[in-house]
Amino acid sequence: MDLFAREVAGQVDPETFQSRLDSAVLYAIQLQEMAGVDIITDGEYRRESYVKIFAQRVGGFERDLLDGFAILDDGRFYDSRARRVVAPSQAESPLRYPAVVRPIEAGRPVVLEEARFLMAHTSLPVKVTLPSPYILARRLWHPDFSREAYPTRQDFLDDIIPVLRREARELEALGVYFIQLDDPWLSLFVDEGYRSHFEAVEREIHTSIDCINRVVSGIRQARTGVHFCRAHYNRQTGFRGDYSYLLPYLKDLRVDQLVMEFALPNAGSLEVLEAFPEHLELGLGCVDVRSEEIPPSGRIVEMVRRAARYVGRDRITLNPDCGFAPSNTNPIPLDEAYRKLKAMAEAARRLREE
Ligand SMILES: [Zn+2]
Repeated sequence: MDLFAREVAGQVDPETFQSRLDSAVLYAIQLQEMAGVDIITDGEYRRESYVKIFAQRVGGFERDLLDGFAILDDGRFYDSRARRVVAPSQAESPLRYPAVVRPIEAGRPVVLEEARFLMAHTSLPVKVTLPSPYILARRLWHPDFSREAYPTRQDFLDDIIPVLRREARELEALGVYFIQLDDPWLSLFVDEGYRSHFEAVEREIHTSIDCINRVVSGIRQARTGVHFCRAHYNRQTGFRGDYSYLLPYLKDLRVDQLVMEFALPNAGSLEVLEAFPEHLELGLGCVDVRSEEIPPSGRIVEMVRRAARYVGRDRITLNPDCGFAPSNTNPIPLDEAYRKLKAMAEAARRLREE
């Protein structure tokens, strides 16, 4: 984050900025390879955040206009920790987000270059993530700032889809093994308190699912998945609730895998997997990224055995609950990330031997 802050302040020249990011990504790749991970990411070192990367690459946004809390339909914010709604003038999350203020200029690829660099530096299959259309539309459109560019949130959403669709196709053509759309804001509907502030929750869910289907439609070579987490900040989340509310809707997703968190304490019981869609694979979150504790691999093995009562073992992939991405919102030491990945890889090895 220090490097990004210096870049924004114009205190670092572009070559130094790039070469430092390259070094960090090479280190992240080697760390995963050493830990025994089978599918590699670039650690997302080039992104100030997984959502802001879209605004960084695609023109039409202005920095730091919005508060970090979830935005409700009327433009007010939902503070998940205090569990209350606050007016924009009173919102005081420590995070800031850009808002769309002009029609987007979709000339530049979003994550294609980072995917290319990653693939040039590992022989293992790679995973590349993109923010879902829904989270971009809810996170970056606000009635106070965006109406001139896009009268409604839906208008903005309609413009986002072709950009992500093209990006997904280019990632596929490059040979990316797994393309993941991150949709924490769809997952937030697991929380009854948050959900109660929406007039038409089902419509929101269907919108998100439909947009994802449109982005991945026609993708055949790459595997596709959607990541559902409860939006952490600083090792915490205020959003509660298990996936039982959401799961029945997810059968309509035309992707290969649902990448879900099950290790964190408020994820609830694995029994919700009873309703897991039969045609989908499960990315089983088996390492809590909030707690500092390194889980013994035996505990992960046990968890997979329990999950396998509902979802066949051949449909389960292991992953951490969420990313370890280094940022000011997720201060996870690299040693901890390494040891957690190693425990996960060791569990996978033991389960394959069985
Ligand atoms: Zn996540």
